[in-house]
Amino acid sequence: MKTWDVIIIGGGIIGLSLAIALRKRGATVLVVERGEPGREASYAAGGMLVDCPLETPPALQLLATASARMYPEFAYELEIESGTRVDLRDCGTILFPSGEHAERDAAFAANHPLPGLLKELDPALADPHSPALYLKERSVDPRAITAAAWKTAKQRSVDFSSGDEVTAVTVADGRATGVKTTKTAFHGAKVVNCAGAWSGQIAPHAFPTRPVKGQMLCLAMPSRALLKHVVRSPEAYLIPRSDGRLLVGATVEEAGFDKRTDIATIQRLHRAALALIPELRHAKILEDWAGLRPGTPDALPILGETSTPGYYVATGHFRDGILLAPITAEVMTAVIEGRNPEFDLTAFSPSRF
Ligand SMILES: Cc1cc2nc3c(=O)[nH]c(=O)nc-3n(C[C@H](O)[C@H](O)[C@H](O)COP(=O)(O)OP(=O)(O)OC[C@H]3O[C@@H](n4cnc5c(N)ncnc54)[C@H](O)[C@@H]3O)c2cc1C
Repeated sequence: MKTWDVIIIGGGIIGLSLAIALRKRGATVLVVERGEPGREASYAAGGMLVDCPLETPPALQLLATASARMYPEFAYELEIESGTRVDLRDCGTILFPSGEHAERDAAFAANHPLPGLLKELDPALADPHSPALYLKERSVDPRAITAAAWKTAKQRSVDFSSGDEVTAVTVADGRATGVKTTKTAFHGAKVVNCAGAWSGQIAPHAFPTRPVKGQMLCLAMPSRALLKHVVRSPEAYLIPRSDGRLLVGATVEEAGFDKRTDIATIQRLHRAALALIPELRHAKILEDWAGLRPGTPDALPILGETSTPGYYVATGHFRDGILLAPITAEVMTAVIEGRNPEFDLTAFSPSRF
């Protein structure tokens, strides 16, 4: 009977990054993916690598900052090993704060001034009549980096089972022994649940994850240089890609497992983009879509060993899973190997619910 050191449930960016990290340490790894790896939240994401205290939950700040720092190396390795460009961009973000916390925003803005006039930084931006600040953030193409991670994992001899859903983690004498799927069973010494918004559906632990829908729109910029920076305003965010695409996002909706887009919402995003960049009236609409972020009751990830020895979980990355992939892979590898992770994970413990 074939067995693996670690079985990972779910081939999104979290499961794939962890599979690579474990494999690098010598573990044999099987990823069991219900569909095709990288086609759920990790396919739908915008790819902003946000670690700004105005937006990141305080309990997540250390992990977010650490992961943002790891990104250039993480992306470089995946690009080299897979031969896939992931479009890691380093142009920074222009943020128009919501004004909800005016005093806090003003104090923060004083330390993050724009490095020039808005007109000079991104001439296509309409004059917003509201103060803007500048963040040294990166962005990445989530579809590309997830595809690169899948390719890298295969090249590093991670095994994959695609198109078969895990229904339960099997347990014997109180320890995890593998997974049961709709068609078969796989045996492994350790199991990690990386099933994103679906993590709570796999017996025996009903983690309180829920889908939080995000609708997005993709335009073709009339010229590739139309917008350089990521732009975030209270109405929408704009993420330029080096190939001339422009992503406009995103809604945050409680809509169950429904991934349909609706015209009124897509039109509202389109209007918000036009208000920020009037020249986009010439832009073609390439695509719209929706994805399901893995949400949790306190909007923090769930990371660690469960009450079933040998069964671990890395899920609930909500709006930051692309950003948090490298640090999640690092800390979870330590936890799974029985080492102390570099960061205190108490706030993310599965036992907090
Ligand atoms: C519109 C939108 C915009 C976003 N923008 C950003 C952003 O700018 N920056 C950022 O950092 N994050 C962003 N996110 C969040 C980010 O996409 C997620 O946090 C991240 O992709 C979660 O990765 P994951 O691997 O946990 O989940 P997923 O990518 O959803 O992967 C989970 C995988 O598990 C599989 N699976 C589920 N159940 C089973 C089962 N029973 N058996 C086998 N396989 C199973 C699924 O098929 C799926 O492939 C955004 C998300 C959305 C929807």
